[in-house]
Amino acid sequence: MVHDKSIAAFAEAQRYIPGGVDSPVRAFKSVGGTPPFIDRGEGPYLYDIDGNSYIDYVQSWGPLIFGHCDPDIEEAVITTAKKGLSFGAPTVLETELAREIVELFESVDKVRFVNSGTEAVMSAIRLARGATGRDDIVKFVGCYHGHSDSLLVQAGSGAATFGTPSSPGVPADLTRHTLLAEYNDLESVRRCFEASDGIACVIVEPIAGNMGLVPAKEEFLFGLRELCDAHGALLIFDEVMSGFRASLRGAQGLVSVRPDLVTFGKVIGGGMPVGAFGGRSEVMAQLSPEGPVYQAGTLSGNPVAMAAGLASVRKLKSHPDLYATFEARARRLMEGFREAAAAAGLPLVTEVRGSMFGFFFTDEPVRDFEGAKRGDNPIFKAFHRRMLERGVYLACSSYETGFVSTVIDDALIDETVAHAGAVMGEIARERGA
Ligand SMILES: *Cc1c(COP(=O)(O)O)cnc(C)c1O
Repeated sequence: MVHDKSIAAFAEAQRYIPGGVDSPVRAFKSVGGTPPFIDRGEGPYLYDIDGNSYIDYVQSWGPLIFGHCDPDIEEAVITTAKKGLSFGAPTVLETELAREIVELFESVDKVRFVNSGTEAVMSAIRLARGATGRDDIVKFVGCYHGHSDSLLVQAGSGAATFGTPSSPGVPADLTRHTLLAEYNDLESVRRCFEASDGIACVIVEPIAGNMGLVPAKEEFLFGLRELCDAHGALLIFDEVMSGFRASLRGAQGLVSVRPDLVTFGKVIGGGMPVGAFGGRSEVMAQLSPEGPVYQAGTLSGNPVAMAAGLASVRKLKSHPDLYATFEARARRLMEGFREAAAAAGLPLVTEVRGSMFGFFFTDEPVRDFEGAKRGDNPIFKAFHRRMLERGVYLACSSYETGFVSTVIDDALIDETVAHAGAVMGEIARERGA
């Protein structure tokens, strides 16, 4: 595969943009090499500016559950764009998308739209603090909730990959209000509640997708619910990734625990920048202009973005059987990877939830960030690079989740598995040699 144009484009980008990218993970730092610069997408494929094509298992990090250029989403976007791009005034589209979400999520009576997952979580935390009159929050090591100040404390995803558990520029005065607990470990959460008498909320990815794919145990989520109730704290499920991905109702379609607030992003924008947070009426009533907790956005609820999200969500809602198909495909892919690894004598554990999949080059089941870190990074790097060279675009860090979509069919999965078998064989032979 030739990458000359991407190499030149990356060099040029670095002259004008820090690191050449607008979000760190895109720079391929954890796997090395040059990121392909993308020209276009079509169905299951990405095409780079050198003309190479790749089966896309990243899907813009989650939003593209119908693949690239889905005709219904495309039409909704074009029709809406022709009526004007933004008004800064209410539109019916916002109510329609809000109603779809409220109908699906029993924990959500009202929703407010923002422009990213980061913004959704940041606003939900402010609301939780405002509603409880408390400052401290609890987050889990390895969970990622965007890059707002209170949450850049040993964050997962890109930050963990770079080995920078917290970031310069974040005031210590703020992060001292963020208590860290271990994922799937209730005892560590109890210790946080003992250490603070002012916990506003516990925020958790009910299916962690930013330390690789690591689902929470149901009894762990139940325990969080009980602890929050006992202490008058709010429970926030960050479903920015798992929402509409793990099931039509996100993680809440798979477990019976209900949070007080939920954050959304990714799929609800259908590829446009959208985030949202929602919850019970009495909590949401604290939000400005109904209540005193301030939150705003010039482009929030942007009509084109709402139209893309609506088309996406309505399509999922009218085909609920899709999730069984997603899950079967993701399982087929992960079983294929496991068989390939077994044949090559490499360690591999895998996980699937709906359209989400994850794999770690380790022998032991992964339940938390410590476990995720045991994944063999040299093997992951070699695997990622060689799969890319064979036209398979996987997330460029072992701390990311992969996705299947409606357009990645069994034939493409079998093609991917065949490449994985060949690549794992090569890696095992070179390691043995
Ligand atoms: C992606 C993600 C975010 C941040 O969303 P952005 O749109 O990138 O700001 C927050 N929480 C979770 C669980 C995510 O996966």
